[in-house]
Amino acid sequence: FFRPLEKIAAVIETYPRGIAGFQRYLDLLSTEPEITDAPGAKDAPDLKGRIEFDDVHFAYEGAKAVLHDISVTVEPGQTVALVGPSGAGKSTLMALVPRFYEPTQGEIRIDGIPLRDMTLDSLRRQVGHVSQDVFLFGGTLRENVAYGRLDATEEEILDAIEHAQLRPVLEAMPNGLDTVVGERGVMLSGGQRQRVAIARVFLRNPPILLLDEATSALDRGTEREVQAALSRLAVGRTTLIIAHRLNTIQHADRILVMEKGRIVESGNHEDLMTRQAAYYALVG
Ligand code: ATP
Repeated sequence: FFRPLEKIAAVIETYPRGIAGFQRYLDLLSTEPEITDAPGAKDAPDLKGRIEFDDVHFAYEGAKAVLHDISVTVEPGQTVALVGPSGAGKSTLMALVPRFYEPTQGEIRIDGIPLRDMTLDSLRRQVGHVSQDVFLFGGTLRENVAYGRLDATEEEILDAIEHAQLRPVLEAMPNGLDTVVGERGVMLSGGQRQRVAIARVFLRNPPILLLDEATSALDRGTEREVQAALSRLAVGRTTLIIAHRLNTIQHADRILVMEKGRIVESGNHEDLMTRQAAYYALVG
């Protein structure tokens, strides 16, 4: 997972200090073009999560444009799925939401406020992110779940673990919440790491959620559990989801089909199946 979103996990969260792995992430971030608070940026209020892409174009530095003419509005609480071939620009589009990159033309607004007018910290605190490639640092399960909410009580952490269907994983751990996971500890599988990310988001409760579905195969039981947790996580949040398996997004409020950096089709599953065009062809 390339790439911008992988690093969003790092920047949208407030880092616990002195945790191993942090420096590595700082190193990673420092290789990216610098996005900073614009002059006069103010802290965002509590957002409802209405996201507007207004004629957005984007090119990575020194490269040709990868997003063109993106104009789309996502209403608060809606789930919108991005589908399309590899390289179509799905991850790039998502990476613009926490302002990991800046559009080269056009504007993105949340609740009517241009992203540039919000401080990065106040924006990113309100954007949660779940992918299988979530970053776990070499701390305990407790620290990894509470990442970004250091004031969380044990009860809140356990509640988030329950919601993320991580309870069986916790029960199998030698030292419970204090078991060291990640780099030098108990290795977690892709599906388990994804559930740690889900637990983090439950705990932080942001109004906006970015999901990148697992690309590697999970066994069917695990996949069902992760899907169930993700569906619950999306309730009441504006959710953008990159779907690699089309069967999981049939109930999305809207599906955007991307090709070569453009949205070529938009509608719900039934609309797009009836149209018998790009989405229909993807579903095969
Ligand atoms: P996939 O389904 O494979 O994840 P995608 O639809 O998410 O693909 P992006 O990853 O957004 O597509 O890539 C869109 C284009 O931007 C591709 O041509 C890709 O090579 C290019 N690209 C992605 N990340 C960078 C980067 N950091 N620098 C330069 N070009 C990049």
